[in-house]
Amino acid sequence: MPRPSIEYPDAMRLVVELSSLYVACDDCGHSRTLKLQNLRQAATLGVHNYMQLCRKIRCSECPKRPPSFRNLTIRPTWISDGALQTVA
Ligand SMILES: [Zn+2]
Repeated sequence: MPRPSIEYPDAMRLVVELSSLYVACDDCGHSRTLKLQNLRQAATLGVHNYMQLCRKIRCSECPKRPPSFRNLTIRPTWISDGALQTVA
């Protein structure tokens, strides 16, 4: 059993369990929210769990950088955490 990383305690949860994902860039202040549609699209592109998704995400305003150099604040909203009514 691989230990889940401290940085992403929900690392192994599935992308399809997310109802939305808030992403803010601490470098430039740009923020956006990935909706169910965006998340489903990521899932069809081969991104299956939350950890993989976090690695894919980058700021659209800042130049490309390796994941460890990104300063992103990522806040997931999980369907199972009470957002079911917005999905139905
Ligand atoms: Zn940025």
